[in-house]
Amino acid sequence: MSIRLGAALVDVVSEMSFPEGPPHELLVGLPEDAVTRQLDWFAPHYYDPASSFMISSIHTWVVRLAGKIILIDTCVGNDKPRPAFEFIHELSLPYLERLAEVGVEPGDVDYVMCTHLHLDHVGWNTRLVGDRWVPTFPHAEYIFSRDDYAHWEPDTGAGRDDPINENVFADSVAPIAASGQMRLVDSGYSPVDGLTLVSAPGHTPGHSVVRLTSEGQSGVFFGDLMHSPLQVAYPQVNSIFCLDQARAATTRREILERAARDGDLLFSAHFPSPHSGRVSADGDAFRFHPRTPDE
Ligand SMILES: [Zn+2]
Repeated sequence: MSIRLGAALVDVVSEMSFPEGPPHELLVGLPEDAVTRQLDWFAPHYYDPASSFMISSIHTWVVRLAGKIILIDTCVGNDKPRPAFEFIHELSLPYLERLAEVGVEPGDVDYVMCTHLHLDHVGWNTRLVGDRWVPTFPHAEYIFSRDDYAHWEPDTGAGRDDPINENVFADSVAPIAASGQMRLVDSGYSPVDGLTLVSAPGHTPGHSVVRLTSEGQSGVFFGDLMHSPLQVAYPQVNSIFCLDQARAATTRREILERAARDGDLLFSAHFPSPHSGRVSADGDAFRFHPRTPDE
């Protein structure tokens, strides 16, 4: 069930899907009537009308391109102490077994790319062996935005005391630096021809998207530019987790405008299945078209 995009094959590995809560609690300034206006496509995949809760997902994208295996975002991880978020505190989930189901063993992974360094995008960078956090993917180069690394860096980073990322740098980023597998990059870095990390700031200072281009087709792994497909219809609406609200909204609109113009396939970090889709312009906003399995 891989997605083919040019010469690239893309698979999704799910860590978890969960009730996110009411849309208005996550999405800042969402119009009161947004859910009822969009209900024809928003439910049932993305929203449960019975509970009035959105449904969210945490997953990794696996890209095979030019003989390489690349993971994009690595979820929450097992055993990670996350006391501020009870539902993901010290998880024990069969993520690596699900990775094996798409034919990937940890030793096979060539590159890990993180759109940003929030807790739910770096977790499987490491795993617990005895009392030590070690890189989960022993042969991979891990690619992080230099700006995001600087933001979370525990001595001087502006975000070092942000409670959302308590313990995260120490257990999921620092061990990668210590093992020599980390590469800090600026916007435009391509580990593989056709796959490029591009700065898309706002959600975090170094938040980036990963652009895929192959044989005339294009896709964008857009990280946390959007938590819900409602933000396609309301691109000015940020999540409560966007650190620079104005910048996040500007960046989101730029990515959506380009996707509508160029036909980019958009790969989410948090939309539940089918996780990806395309957009078209719709007046001053956009319309979301979830990907169908035969696309
Ligand atoms: Zn996230």
